[in-house]
Amino acid sequence: MAIRVEQDCPHCGAAIEFVETDHVLACGYCGARSLLQSAGPCRYVLPMAGGASSAGLLLAPYLRFKGTIYLVRGETIEHRVIDTTQAASPALGLPPSLGLRPQAMRLRRIVSEDGNLFLPQTLKASAIVEKAAMVGGLAPLGCEPFQHRAYIGEHLSYIYLPLVAKNRGVYDGVTGERLLELDGTGEHGLSGRRFDESWRVRFLSALCPQCGAGLEGAGDCEVMTCALCDSAWAVGPDGLAAVDWQMQPATESTALFLPFWQMTAQIPALRISSFADFVVRSNQPFLPRPEWRDRAMSLWIPAVRLRPKIFLQAGRQATLGQWRLAPVPGRVRPNLFPATLPASEARQAVKLMLAASSASPRRIFPMLPQVRLTGVSTRLVYLPFADRGHDWVQPETGVAIGKNILRFGRTL
Ligand SMILES: [Zn+2]
Ligand SMILES: [Zn+2]
Repeated sequence: MAIRVEQDCPHCGAAIEFVETDHVLACGYCGARSLLQSAGPCRYVLPMAGGASSAGLLLAPYLRFKGTIYLVRGETIEHRVIDTTQAASPALGLPPSLGLRPQAMRLRRIVSEDGNLFLPQTLKASAIVEKAAMVGGLAPLGCEPFQHRAYIGEHLSYIYLPLVAKNRGVYDGVTGERLLELDGTGEHGLSGRRFDESWRVRFLSALCPQCGAGLEGAGDCEVMTCALCDSAWAVGPDGLAAVDWQMQPATESTALFLPFWQMTAQIPALRISSFADFVVRSNQPFLPRPEWRDRAMSLWIPAVRLRPKIFLQAGRQATLGQWRLAPVPGRVRPNLFPATLPASEARQAVKLMLAASSASPRRIFPMLPQVRLTGVSTRLVYLPFADRGHDWVQPETGVAIGKNILRFGRTL
């Protein structure tokens, strides 16, 4: 279930409600659309009991992780969907988890103007996610080795619990529960630091940097498109950055286009520098054609959030069928399905997709720890899909995605 956040419109100040996975804020009052830009995970605070203000209070950090953990181990790829909210500070008395609280409440973004102090985060995000993986049965058991682990489709944020100090004790600001006795020794680790400027979120206008037209894209879109100049844009550290994109030409049967990240690279550890090399090294049951020696090798990662099994399957089929594709410069049209998986997450998936595309786990999996991709180039490619009853089917590569699954992916 998605977390709901309340945010003031950066243009007119009206309260907008959105879900945590949204990067595009649309204001129902003034009509302005803004893009969120933040340097790291977003930070929210739970509302105080009785609607009281949490300004000036001490806030305790919790890390929220939502996504899929994949583990390549032995000759299999295991996966698990994880949704966890764990205390990121070891301060005494804090509830270890926020449970379902964040999902039942409307959160607010933390802002420096509120003058809060923040308990330092002493547990690393990776340690907390690892713990969640362990609970999911995916951590390496004892000395059983694994070849690769990846976290994909993740949503990472910090949720703060307001703490109230009164009557020589510390109280949970949301439930009013007494968490800790203050004995005056100061040995409870409850000293906070001030708002860090790197946490500040910026709002960008959803206008095409090239032609000034309004950019198109739903709230959870990672890549916005401009129908006027056929350009594509993603929010980067320095604002909107152009996304290199193409599309496979439509046929008569095309009903919609689904985006994939095409990650073209060389893989020296496996001596792969062409598609022909890949076919041979990964032991495919077909022979490489001579022209494939001049064809660069790409890993194709779905740019939409899908269930783990379908995500791997769709990427594998597009990767194996890439020689049938000849994308051309893209034209924005109404039936482009929004790209909801950013390029940064697709990069986390390259080794995983290499493993999933291999016909011989024994040859490829043991090499994964040494695998480094070199000369990587990233491009968003829209592939045409035909309507085949319950499925969307990609004619060139045979990728088939259930219609109900695509709906699921948008709320994962
Ligand atoms: Zn507004
Ligand atoms: Zn434009």
